[in-house]
Amino acid sequence: MRRFFWKGMAALAFVMAGAQASQAETPEAEAKGLFKQVVEIPTVEGRGEVPRLVKLLSSKFKAEGLTDIVVKPHGETESMILRWAAEGKAKAKPILLMAHMDVVEAKRADWEDDPFIFREKDGYYWGRGSVDNKAGMTAIVMSLIRLKRSGFKPTRDLIVLFTGDEETAGDGSRLAASEWIDLVRAEYALNSDAGGGGFTDDGIPLGYGMQTAEKTYRTYSFTVTNKGGHSSRPRPDNAIYELAAALTRLEKHRFEPMLNETTRGYFAARAKQERGDLGDAMRRWLADESDGEAADIIEADPKEVGLTRTRCVATKLTGGHADNALPQLAEATVNCRIFPGVEPDDVMAELQDIAGDGVTVALSDSFGASAPASPLRADVVGAYSNAIHKRFPDMPIVPSMSTGATDGVFFRGIGIPVYGVSGVWLKIPEDARAHGLDERIPVESFHMNIDVWEDMLRELAG
Ligand SMILES: [Zn+2]
Repeated sequence: MRRFFWKGMAALAFVMAGAQASQAETPEAEAKGLFKQVVEIPTVEGRGEVPRLVKLLSSKFKAEGLTDIVVKPHGETESMILRWAAEGKAKAKPILLMAHMDVVEAKRADWEDDPFIFREKDGYYWGRGSVDNKAGMTAIVMSLIRLKRSGFKPTRDLIVLFTGDEETAGDGSRLAASEWIDLVRAEYALNSDAGGGGFTDDGIPLGYGMQTAEKTYRTYSFTVTNKGGHSSRPRPDNAIYELAAALTRLEKHRFEPMLNETTRGYFAARAKQERGDLGDAMRRWLADESDGEAADIIEADPKEVGLTRTRCVATKLTGGHADNALPQLAEATVNCRIFPGVEPDDVMAELQDIAGDGVTVALSDSFGASAPASPLRADVVGAYSNAIHKRFPDMPIVPSMSTGATDGVFFRGIGIPVYGVSGVWLKIPEDARAHGLDERIPVESFHMNIDVWEDMLRELAG
């Protein structure tokens, strides 16, 4: 990591020289100051703090003349939408810029320091949300402000959507993609909450991801009912045994392996990095999509879990009503992450086949529509690659599919492609702390992300 150290020192020397030359705030100091304010507003579900962050960001934008802001309250939280209209007649449809303002809960007792007191230490900015997603949100704010101050005039509308409940209900994005669609309709969206790069501890580049697909979230119940009776006289049929047998069949079941444009690109890049059995399996599967055995080897690797197919797993279990009674009811929750474009109804039918006639399979929760991977548009891939390669010339840019769901799922579901792009890089695995303890972002990575967003927007909307 020496190279980052020296680059950091150079930046520091520049900042100090700037501070001596004039009392004016440097761009770095301004960005850090905003980031500190943003991290220190604890936008956790239930604390009602998102409106305070919305006020802060709105005033920041308005001070720069970006005044077309709509605030949408929903529940205890809020989402905000800002439009920077094209100068003159727009050359193309708008671009939507996405981030979320809320963060996952963090407890003072569990952390080394207070998660909601911003700190700079050991070359990192520390605090809850420093990676997920307040770095990305701050980068969108600062890059727009810098573009505005530089006299940049967008040739198409730039629309900002900051949601207030991505980590929980996801209503901000769901409503934006439905009820508020007239405010945010765009040709495509750039989502700061996905993508980004990694380095090993020794500084070896692992690549920059561009999220172009995410799996579809569905939850199903497996229910068995039975007449029950006295436990001293067991019946041949038993709700708990019947459910247990169905779950054992589910455990052994493998959904059909499949590839799309995104995962094909991803595994092609991974196959260049991986030697040994895993790399061989990737090369075999890419050469022959019907080689299910190769796909199974890949799926079994902890780094690749969920990337080769639909996965469903039992997550909760209830049943019975008394120690001395035969169960009248046994129920399991099965959570599925469905391969993009596969119809959830087809997955449910497959689950019913596995479970058997005595088990009722029903949908119990859903989040977004099933949508295919977003196409790898040359303009977006180009702008992202250019911005990254300007800083890291040999960095591989790799399309990626999220196994979890982000705000992007609602827009993909209505046919608006979404690209998870981020200039943030982390040391892997030690900096992978989103949702976890002692979340932190390398100082240099935070500031570089703003420059990456500025470059991308210049190229795509200039
Ligand atoms: Zn996030």
